[in-house]
Amino acid sequence: MNRILAELADQQKIQDMIASHEPFMDILAEVTKMVAREMPDATVTFMMYDSADETLSLVTGEGLSESYRAAMQRVKIGPNVASCGKAAYTQKVVITPDISDDPNWADYRESALQENLRACWSIPVIMDNDALLGTFSTYHPTPCTPTDDQLVLIMRAAGLLAFALARKQDQRALRIQSQRYQSLFNYHPDAVFELDLDGRFVAANRSSENIAGFEEKAILGLHFNEFLKAEYHDTATQAFDQARKGIPQYYEVVAYNISGDEYLIEVTNLPIIVDDEVVGVYGIAKDITSQRESELKLHFQRTHDMLTGLSNRAGFESRLTEDLPLAKGHVAVLLINLDGFASINDGLGHAVGDHLLQAVADRLVAGLEPSDFLARFAGDEFGVLLTERGRVEQALPVVEGLLSLLARPFVIDEHVLHVSASIGVALGRASSKNASELIQHAHLAVREAKAQGRNTWEWYVGDVDSTVREHIELRRELLEAVEHDQLVLYYQPLVDAVTGKMTSLEALVRWRHPGRGMVPPGDFIPLAERTGQIIDLDRWVLRHACQDLKNINAGRDKPLTVAVNISPVHFRRNGFFDEVKQALDESGLSPEKLELEVTEGLMMAGSEKAIELLQNIRDLGVRVAIDDFGTGFSSLSYLRQLPINKVKIDRSFVRDIDSGRENAAIVEGIITMAHHLGLEVVAEGIETEGQRNDLVNRRCDMLQGFYFSRPVPLDDLLQLPHQLPAADE
Ligand code: C2E
Ligand code: MG
Ligand code: MG
Repeated sequence: MNRILAELADQQKIQDMIASHEPFMDILAEVTKMVAREMPDATVTFMMYDSADETLSLVTGEGLSESYRAAMQRVKIGPNVASCGKAAYTQKVVITPDISDDPNWADYRESALQENLRACWSIPVIMDNDALLGTFSTYHPTPCTPTDDQLVLIMRAAGLLAFALARKQDQRALRIQSQRYQSLFNYHPDAVFELDLDGRFVAANRSSENIAGFEEKAILGLHFNEFLKAEYHDTATQAFDQARKGIPQYYEVVAYNISGDEYLIEVTNLPIIVDDEVVGVYGIAKDITSQRESELKLHFQRTHDMLTGLSNRAGFESRLTEDLPLAKGHVAVLLINLDGFASINDGLGHAVGDHLLQAVADRLVAGLEPSDFLARFAGDEFGVLLTERGRVEQALPVVEGLLSLLARPFVIDEHVLHVSASIGVALGRASSKNASELIQHAHLAVREAKAQGRNTWEWYVGDVDSTVREHIELRRELLEAVEHDQLVLYYQPLVDAVTGKMTSLEALVRWRHPGRGMVPPGDFIPLAERTGQIIDLDRWVLRHACQDLKNINAGRDKPLTVAVNISPVHFRRNGFFDEVKQALDESGLSPEKLELEVTEGLMMAGSEKAIELLQNIRDLGVRVAIDDFGTGFSSLSYLRQLPINKVKIDRSFVRDIDSGRENAAIVEGIITMAHHLGLEVVAEGIETEGQRNDLVNRRCDMLQGFYFSRPVPLDDLLQLPHQLPAADE
């Protein structure tokens, strides 16, 4: 009875030890003690199984020699390996009554007998799932077999060991389970954090602190948006809501670190799911600021020219690809190639060449509008993309403007350098062109321009429509007209209203076109103004008119004045004043005999500068008349501010002066007002005697019109009588 109670007490104690996770070796010692109490002369052993190499190794065995213990390490299990090896292998109890005659013990018999071991009862220690943990054995000094009680005892002992080992394994598995992701969290190089369902921080790893600078305890309980730039709150909130619904999210937002600096993070939000329920959201945030910066830098380097900081050809092409579909068919690509750059580069060195290219880039930038796109393609070649002024009539003035811009000398490292450019132009239609095709066309055109000589432009005419081609054709012809003396000056007299004497001549240009005959100015002046050719044209007229008048006046008592029409485009140009002086100097005509006709519209735009220029011209002695007066704006009082001599009433008022009462009143008003300001008044377009008389009666000073003479060539003019039909006295 005592024995049973003692055994129960032992078992209870061992189970308590197992329950409170005491070390296995302590439990094993207790089990050994329990068995030894019942079998005092037995040697109790436990061999631990290692599934990796299927061996058993002796763990306990009080009273056994060192050499025996050493021999019992890593014993391969097998059906014929002593008692333990066989018990492990067969997973059955193996009772060996006498080691000395058991064939399975052949290899170990001698050492066993030396230890005074004659009998061995071995039990496999197995878990519920049949996994082998080891063998539990008792050795006896005399041949014997177990009684039932003894067998029950050692089997119970083996059961307790199995239980202890299984608990130990469970425990470890649990610990692994709970800790296996801990290092992932702790050592992950990105910020890893956990948010509750309201978006507040529940945990944050060390990298969070490294990246943002905030300690974990400083952010716990705070909402994630408190760390993000306001404009990203919606993005982050939407993603968080999705993650909370169980859908992982990836997005980029700008966050603030502890110093208040902005940095870019790439965030992953994952739902934390426990028992099929989302209980929170994981966040992983990677700082991609420098990565993005280097991406951008790389992109910049790929698409930009390092010398000028402009886009390069690749950047230009991608811009063109983006803009072509948006531009609704009207883009112009300009390819600018400098003339004579190579000789500067070779002659003065690459440093000068580089500086020149930079200066060219600066000048081009200054000459273009913000909506235009400029790039440097290679060497001395630049590209311009016009999207908002890509129509032919818009692009041409730009091209002309750039040409004259580049023709101005550059001062580079104490050298004064003259370069000009050749420009190739291609017009794009969104539907039919692609970027490289357009550039290709511009290339063909620039080659053509080079072939024409320097400082000029060419248009790619491959498939532009007929109006454009005509336009281009005309433009080219006009260029030739100026160069090849196809321009002719006609002169129309202005007569004194009272005496009928010719006092002045207006120079009116004509184009003697080789195919079309005499072309009136109305057909080409507007085009010339748009292309900028008006400047060359007016300059030509100015010089020839001064020269002609000098010649005419040579044979006259009373010298005539010559009136020359000046386009606003020309007038506004820098250097206009010098051109006037030059024309006078070259011809020797005295300044008082030159009159410039400008339109009132000119005064409207940029008046300050225009008035100053007019004043300078007046100071020179040259006279100034406002042409087509009454058609622009009708503020007569405005005339007061202008340093002018004369007003020319537009012929539309004269036309029906005798019938239209309103016009008569206007003409009357203009004349009165002008006289009041001390200005002379001219009436244009007098065709009838009635008109002449009317104007004379209204005290107009001078008259001009077909009634007196049409505009005629110089030779015909000289045949005219000095006195033209005089007013009826
Ligand atoms: P404008 O300066 O007003 O010149 C007067 C125009 O009226 C001339 O036309 C002349 O032939 C026309 N005219 C003169 N008397 C009469 C008349 O009794 N009846 C009618 N119906 N017309 C008359 P044109 O020569 O065709 O010139 C037209 C315009 O072209 C000029 O108007 C002027 O603005 C411009 N223009 C002519 N030559 C030049 C030039 O060398 N440079 C510039 N910038 N413009 C010029
Ligand atoms: Mg005129
Ligand atoms: Mg006029």
